[in-house]
Amino acid sequence: MTGFHQECLWEKVTPERARGERLKGEARFDVCVIGGGITGLTAALRLREAGRSVCVLEAHEVGHGGSGRNVGLVNAGTWIKPDDVESTLGAKQGARLNQVLGQAPAEVFAAIERYGIDCQAQHKGTLHMAHNEAGVADLRDREAQWRRRGADVELLTGATCAEYCGTDRIAAALLDRRAGTLNPMGYTTGLARAFVTRGGTLYERSPVQALEREGGDWRVRSADGSVLAGQVVISTGAYTEGEWTEVRRNYFRGYYYQVASRPLSGAAADRVLPHGQGSWDTRTVLSSIRRDAEGRLLLGSLGKADNKPDWFIRSWADRIQGHYFPELGKVEWELHWTGCIDFTPDHLMRLFAPAPGVVAVTGYNGRGNTTGTVIGQALADYLVKDDPEALPIPFAPVGKLRTAGLRSCFYEAGFSLYHAGQCLRVVL
Ligand SMILES: Cc1cc2nc3c(=O)[nH]c(=O)nc-3n(C[C@H](O)[C@H](O)[C@H](O)COP(=O)(O)OP(=O)(O)OC[C@H]3O[C@@H](n4cnc5c(N)ncnc54)[C@H](O)[C@@H]3O)c2cc1C
Repeated sequence: MTGFHQECLWEKVTPERARGERLKGEARFDVCVIGGGITGLTAALRLREAGRSVCVLEAHEVGHGGSGRNVGLVNAGTWIKPDDVESTLGAKQGARLNQVLGQAPAEVFAAIERYGIDCQAQHKGTLHMAHNEAGVADLRDREAQWRRRGADVELLTGATCAEYCGTDRIAAALLDRRAGTLNPMGYTTGLARAFVTRGGTLYERSPVQALEREGGDWRVRSADGSVLAGQVVISTGAYTEGEWTEVRRNYFRGYYYQVASRPLSGAAADRVLPHGQGSWDTRTVLSSIRRDAEGRLLLGSLGKADNKPDWFIRSWADRIQGHYFPELGKVEWELHWTGCIDFTPDHLMRLFAPAPGVVAVTGYNGRGNTTGTVIGQALADYLVKDDPEALPIPFAPVGKLRTAGLRSCFYEAGFSLYHAGQCLRVVL
């Protein structure tokens, strides 16, 4: 296909995907992991390395969820500021979560190194870009809060800021040297391959339909087979399908789309984010901006693209590119794709132990490359050691977010209006 069309860039540039059979008949494992994304595969790999027999059940194919289609920012910390994490969770728990997620990019890059994963990994930092004076104040605050915690962050201003961002539209940018970028499908595929190479069993096209207690074990049923396991990890996140778990009632769905250009070259293209950082701006309905290994420009924002005509998405991308990088002239857009995010009202994730031997997580709020990696490791360590200290935050009761559907609709409508306003030059 040559024209502007719907296709995930990361699928296109990751041809060597992991492959698993469909689950047929009955099988027995120590642990059954449900969901083949970064969280599930990291947990499965860690459990396998601890000597457990482990299978992963994936409804579609590895990387079908957020793990295969995200922006690829390897972020440090949560979306909210570290002080806010501590005021929400309490000083001790908040400090622990800040510490674990602050060093999470290092865990991602260490895993890439350890398993030899080919995923365009760049440990060169991220840039949070202030689009106005309020944005600058917000970034100053973030810089001070992270510096108090010893993080390697620096607020860039003036000519340095313009040179790093490749635009004079940004007043200041917070360079976080802990962070970086990758091809998320490449990373996820690499984790799956490392798991299978170490004797793990991967089942694809095997959606879980029921989870039932059987003696002291769990029977995990799919259409053509079932797994009997002593322990279960539920890592289906925003993409949870079916009625077999209440965990999906603990978040509301939001969407995020991306647009990729054809590979760009030349002097003007070389000036866009020349030092290899991935970035996003301080708008409430933010825009993310990054390059890939082949020089494509990737723009993204909150909301869906797959329910809008191509001309609308192209016009939005032209507008953002023209605002930040007018020197590029007319850019040819090649691909767009959309993904789903599990949001929580306080922007913090939840860990659950809904039944004996079952653990689950949701609510990464759009930060799963790093969070999925460290939480996958933590859930595995918890199951191996039976030690709550392995977890960065305690388990929460499984609840029900009553306004989930309403919130999703409300936000989606708001994002669409905002993007229409950007296209019409009412905002931006
Ligand atoms: C467009 C977009 C951009 C994002 N950008 C970033 C970013 O730049 N940086 C960042 O850190 N995070 C980002 N995120 C968030 C990040 O992608 C996710 O938080 C992360 O991938 C979640 O990983 P996971 O393994 O927990 O879940 P997922 O990757 O969503 O995997 C869950 C899997 O479970 C499977 N599943 C669902 N139901 C069943 C069932 N019944 N049986 C079996 N399997 C099932 C799904 O098919 C899916 O493959 C973004 C997300 C999106 C959508």
